[in-house]
Amino acid sequence: MRRKLVAGNWKMHGSLAENEALLAGVLAGMADVKAGVAVCVPYPYLAQVQSRLTGSAVAWGAQNLSQHAKGAFTGEVSASMLKDFGCAYVIVGHSERRALYGESDAVVADKFAAVQAAGLTPILCVGETLEEREGGTTEAVVARQLDAVIAQSGVASLAKAVLAYEPVWAIGTGKTASPEQAQAVHAFIRGKIRALDAGVAEGLVIQYGGSVKGSNAVELFSQADIDGGLIGGASLNAEDFLAICRAA
Ligand code: PEP
Repeated sequence: MRRKLVAGNWKMHGSLAENEALLAGVLAGMADVKAGVAVCVPYPYLAQVQSRLTGSAVAWGAQNLSQHAKGAFTGEVSASMLKDFGCAYVIVGHSERRALYGESDAVVADKFAAVQAAGLTPILCVGETLEEREGGTTEAVVARQLDAVIAQSGVASLAKAVLAYEPVWAIGTGKTASPEQAQAVHAFIRGKIRALDAGVAEGLVIQYGGSVKGSNAVELFSQADIDGGLIGGASLNAEDFLAICRAA
């Protein structure tokens, strides 16, 4: 049995006071959560989550990083800096980074490699736009995004990574992929990796992301190839997030 992992992506939300209340709420409800749980927070709040979550059952991480190790990259943050703050995970290739900041498959592959070089675990996001889905290219798009990483880091690198299938049309829109739609893409991803390395494929945690809520999480997470979720909006409310964590 693969472990289930639920990760919150706070995006650019929060304040010291709001985070304090949210973290307290999540910690208070963790006793009956069996899945792995993490929160990926804005950089300035890493020290806060490190101090609040050290020794707890909740891990933490960042939402982005520089592909470079150090140097003249004003405003950027390296993997080793994230490691200094105890991050376990770093999200790479989120569709908002790809679409709003022009991150290409090649840049995402570099970032994935940078996370692993620091000994942290990347959460690699892949997924198609609505136009791509309607054009029948979902599998081709997801395969291309995965191939960029496999070409650079090798299929074995996925043994120390988490994947998140996030159809772009389902992120923050309230439109969730149906469990069957999501399972079909998850099975495609696992099958593609199985063809390269069966052991890596069986152990690989593939999260689903896109408008997951307490009300749809059980059905999504009960699909054979869905191993938890990457949660945006619902991770900003402790009760909503915990309901999803319990569903995993
Ligand atoms: C996300 O930000 O990765 C995400 C899935 O957002 P939401 O849950 O709000 O759709």
